[in-house]
Amino acid sequence: MTQTPAPGAASRSPKDEPVVARTIADLRSLVAAWRRAGLSVGLVPTMGALHAGHLSLVAASQDVCDRTIVSIFVNPKQFAPGEDLDTYPRTWDSDLAALRDVGAHAVFAPIPSEVYPAGHATTVSVANLTDCLDGIARPGFFDGVATVVAKLFLQSGADKAFFGEKDFQQFLVVRRMAADLDIPIDVIGCPTVREADGLALSSRNTYLSAAERAQAPRLHQEMVKAAHRIRSGDGDISAACADAIAALSAEGFGPIDYIEMRDAETLAALSGTDPVIRPARLFAAARLGETRLIDNIGV
Ligand code: AMP
Repeated sequence: MTQTPAPGAASRSPKDEPVVARTIADLRSLVAAWRRAGLSVGLVPTMGALHAGHLSLVAASQDVCDRTIVSIFVNPKQFAPGEDLDTYPRTWDSDLAALRDVGAHAVFAPIPSEVYPAGHATTVSVANLTDCLDGIARPGFFDGVATVVAKLFLQSGADKAFFGEKDFQQFLVVRRMAADLDIPIDVIGCPTVREADGLALSSRNTYLSAAERAQAPRLHQEMVKAAHRIRSGDGDISAACADAIAALSAEGFGPIDYIEMRDAETLAALSGTDPVIRPARLFAAARLGETRLIDNIGV
């Protein structure tokens, strides 16, 4: 039996090209057609240079949504002067090929002036959750993230959005922002995808030299060791974190922005021999050569 596809819901094979929308108007009309056909929509915000971590978010969306949009936008507002905005990897052709292979339905890839036209003057700022960790190490970063993600949520009108736990503080900030602004979207966190040696996948890993790449998994290994110590009650939290920092410094990591254990919901600091009765995570950020690595794990 053949079925007539609903408007905007034409059946497609995984090898179909995703629809590429460059403007907000094109994105909105695409989503409107899907809506008329009764289809649910998932959004995966990215800055491109896609790897298996990003594609795991696409798969998570495809599991629960009828249509999946991947946004690719290197957001200038989340880079401080002197950071890597100009050199951030841009790999459009291979990104599009990867998204075609996994069957993503659409790519939203606006140019900066589409997102921030002349006169743009509004910043979304989330308090409390941004008072620590990368909120201190990268001033302005979370304002840039919250602003662009709020816009992407409103531009796409998606039902659900998928974020990696790799950037756990970002996930919490985005979830808070959507709740506070009454944006009707479900913000879903997905597990970190790692290399076999434990290094969390990141678009910035391409900056690592061969020697640095060999050393990089030490960050995750020291975090696992510290988490194990904390879990087994061997010494206090601060000592476990300090020892991890010392071990990594001795191996040439640095500066180390933080290795800290925090409440997994509120990001309240945990230290000393506080009994850990709520879900907690160990967060780390450290430079290795020119590359800033971040990671976090549940304790
Ligand atoms: P980015 O392109 O780095 O801004 O990341 C886009 C999304 O992919 C964010 O939600 C990230 O948390 C997520 N992501 C990045 N790396 C990973 C990873 N290794 N595993 C899972 N998600 C990731």
